[in-house]
Amino acid sequence: MKASFIIGLLVLVLAAPLIAAADEVVVYSARKEHLIKPLFDRYSAQTGVEVRFITDKAGPLLQRLKAEGARTPADLLITVDVGNLWYAAESRVLAPLESPILNANVPANLRDPKGRWFGLSQRARTIVHSTERVAPGELDSYEGLADPRWKGRLCLRTSKKVYNQSLVAALIARHGVDQAEQIVRGWVYNLAAAPFANDNKAMEAVAAGQCDATVVNTYYFGRLLKQRPDSKLAIFWPNQASSGVHINVSGAGVTRHAKHPEAALKLLEWLSSEEAQADFAGLNMEYPVNARVETHPLVASWGSFKADTLNVAEAGQRQADAIRLMDRAGYR
Ligand code: FE
Repeated sequence: MKASFIIGLLVLVLAAPLIAAADEVVVYSARKEHLIKPLFDRYSAQTGVEVRFITDKAGPLLQRLKAEGARTPADLLITVDVGNLWYAAESRVLAPLESPILNANVPANLRDPKGRWFGLSQRARTIVHSTERVAPGELDSYEGLADPRWKGRLCLRTSKKVYNQSLVAALIARHGVDQAEQIVRGWVYNLAAAPFANDNKAMEAVAAGQCDATVVNTYYFGRLLKQRPDSKLAIFWPNQASSGVHINVSGAGVTRHAKHPEAALKLLEWLSSEEAQADFAGLNMEYPVNARVETHPLVASWGSFKADTLNVAEAGQRQADAIRLMDRAGYR
């Protein structure tokens, strides 16, 4: 009796870590592997929870999630840009969460009011300009880039990119459709070249003298500076006397049909924590959402700025309006 009790106890003790190791979370991520794997590895080492993941572009990942429906193995969706987060929520693939931890770690303007997604890093979409051909005082705001004195001096990334759709959606939220359309028409009038495929190409055009200013996410500026530290480019923080710099997020939500919803919520909470935020933002030269976490020193060296406090969900909601507006304005 006694021996079998001890053996039974031993089995329990030995089995406990195996049961814990069987815990897992399956993540679909539009954030690239080198930005998330170091964090998942750390989480697994600390908790014994295995994190399995696939990465793909935001669109295909969401399509896959929708097609899989209730059969999906995905517990957590990580994606970039509020436009994509909003669309995922609208597509009913995310579950509403009630988490005091997430609500404390993620400011209210960087998460879904209905709790279906939470921002995990902030990206500032700001003006980058030539230090040689732009005088101090020439720049002021996104709206100011529509002024005719910028004729033939502006480069922009394509309107097909969700980042610009969110920027224009925020202009709509701020000014209404008609005024926002006048601003975008001004940008188009001022273009020095057809819109570029990505933020890098737009900045390279400024560096090459094709135009004098463009609008990009700051982490692309950081990457460019690492490759070409001698670039005659600088960041300008627009709208400091008005709405503030346009902010977007990368973020995540637990899927509606998660097989491990509690484990997924725990991982999401950890990603918003002091412990994970420095790396989650810093590995991509972004800004943490958690206000108790310091910005990466290189990113901080670009200076502090007033950020737009508009709830990013508002930009998500106006994506379709923004796309139609840019089409009418001839922004390709
Ligand atoms: Fe990006």
